[in-house]
Amino acid sequence: MEKIVVKFGGSSLASAEQFKKVGKIIKENPARKFVVPSAPGKRFSDDTKVTDMLYSCYELAEENKEFSGQLKSIKARYDDIIKGLSLKLNLDDEFKKIEEEFKSGAGRDYAASRGEYLNGLVMAAYLDYEFIDSAEVIFFDEDGTFLPEETNKALSNRLKNVKNAVVPGFYGSIGGKKVKTFSRGGSDITGSLVAKAASADLYENWTDVSGFLVADPRIIRNPKVITMITYRELRELSYMGATVLHEDAIFPVRQAGIPINIRNTNDPSAPGTMIVANTCHSPEYTITGIAGVQGFVAVNIEKDMMNSEIGFGRKALGVFEKYGVSFEHMPSGIDTMSILVNQKDFEGREQQILAELQKQTHADQIDLYTNIALIAVVGRGMKSTRGTAGRIFAALAHANVNIKMIDQGSSELNIIIGVDDGDFKTAIKAIYDIFVTSQL
Ligand code: ASP
Repeated sequence: MEKIVVKFGGSSLASAEQFKKVGKIIKENPARKFVVPSAPGKRFSDDTKVTDMLYSCYELAEENKEFSGQLKSIKARYDDIIKGLSLKLNLDDEFKKIEEEFKSGAGRDYAASRGEYLNGLVMAAYLDYEFIDSAEVIFFDEDGTFLPEETNKALSNRLKNVKNAVVPGFYGSIGGKKVKTFSRGGSDITGSLVAKAASADLYENWTDVSGFLVADPRIIRNPKVITMITYRELRELSYMGATVLHEDAIFPVRQAGIPINIRNTNDPSAPGTMIVANTCHSPEYTITGIAGVQGFVAVNIEKDMMNSEIGFGRKALGVFEKYGVSFEHMPSGIDTMSILVNQKDFEGREQQILAELQKQTHADQIDLYTNIALIAVVGRGMKSTRGTAGRIFAALAHANVNIKMIDQGSSELNIIIGVDDGDFKTAIKAIYDIFVTSQL
């Protein structure tokens, strides 16, 4: 029988009303055997996520301040849901334990993880599914590094003879003892791990948008939904700032060849976005998506006869490595080389890096160009289409945007363009229009 792992984000589980929608979705298809919930998210735009409430409550506890009022408001969020669903569940003992743990310094991760843990208990009671505590099946080592093999072994063993279960998202433990969380949004990773361990046929990730969008809706009004995207394309877009799914959620399912389907809890009939390893499904537009990040600086190094100096690039990049600054792109000319780095990472170590670069490379000149935005135009369709780059550049010229850098990987999966931060939105609009709007 088909097996589907479903993960629901915080806004899908923020209230009893949302829980009911989720329950309906799960019961509609018996293949939806394993459920990974987030903590209750925002019910309205200026509401606070339970995870954030837990973090600030724990901060009070750490400072030896009164935190019982905060903890009570957190409990009220769950009690509201429990009441709205007419469940018999009582969380008094759980909250007593949490209070004690807070007092004895159980840690920030423990505190934050309770959001998912408690929501898992509520979900398991509501669905009448078994509850599996993620601390018993998802492992990290002493330094907090995730342990994929140990986790997969423990998780698949645990799920082997289980018909239906709820496995809370976001956390695991160090050796089954100390609770450790993934980074924010990490329930997506848990979903992916459960899908892999259960050898699922599909990982459904339910959220509050109808899939991955071609461009950021804060820049493009009502952008189109991407119906099908490959893992590689998604990785390029997420790296450049497109967020729907946690970046690290891709690896476990990708290795196992399990597709991810992004779906909308508030519009369950929408097909959403399928994320797949490979597809012969050609994209609707030449490009699959556009994403971008602002705030880069280009370190421009000039030296006569740079081209004939073997090892020049290594020496220059070695300086960035030494100071722990990762570089994003490195377009070069015959006697020039530009190294693009994140301005925030660079700023603190700027003077040391510049001095060391001078020492190592004996450059004729080193200049800094700040406030650069990088825009990635991504699409598997670009490989087989001629003139994509031409269309992008024509659109940008038409919109009066000056291009500061161009980088196309040899995989022809993406073209990266550097523009001035101030031109960021105009550039994205121009590219979207030429590929998407003008094709309608
Ligand atoms: N609740 C956690 C957060 O707000 C994890 C998650 O929702 O995935 O980041």
